[in-house]
Amino acid sequence: MTDDAHVQHTWQLAHPDGDEITIDLWTDGYTVRVDGGPDDGDQREGGRADVDHLLTKYQAAGYRLVRDYPVNEAEAHDDVPEGDDPEPHGRPEHCPECGDPVAYDPRYSDDFREGAAWLCTGCKWGQWLTA
Ligand SMILES: [Zn+2]
Repeated sequence: MTDDAHVQHTWQLAHPDGDEITIDLWTDGYTVRVDGGPDDGDQREGGRADVDHLLTKYQAAGYRLVRDYPVNEAEAHDDVPEGDDPEPHGRPEHCPECGDPVAYDPRYSDDFREGAAWLCTGCKWGQWLTA
């Protein structure tokens, strides 16, 4: 058995004469590895586009797609931050000047500086955040 922890998705093809091809797409999302067939041992870096290209090519050569199945989750899933709200803790519930809601702006700028700030939606009161 080979260690397939780096494999995201596998496609298996078979030819009527018994020849078999396995295409692995790695979890990095771009490495494609071919086992068997005319390109045995080939390693490419075109991701799904390469897989589609190879599948089309092999099917035109008489191979039949037997099955394809996910092996591991793509690594890209690990890059998604937990929750989609990047706002830091500590937001004032209301503006201390007028009581209106306060919004978070990660790229607020005035004449003097630029950065994250709490901003009042009413009177435009603002408070800079220091990282
Ligand atoms: Zn205000």
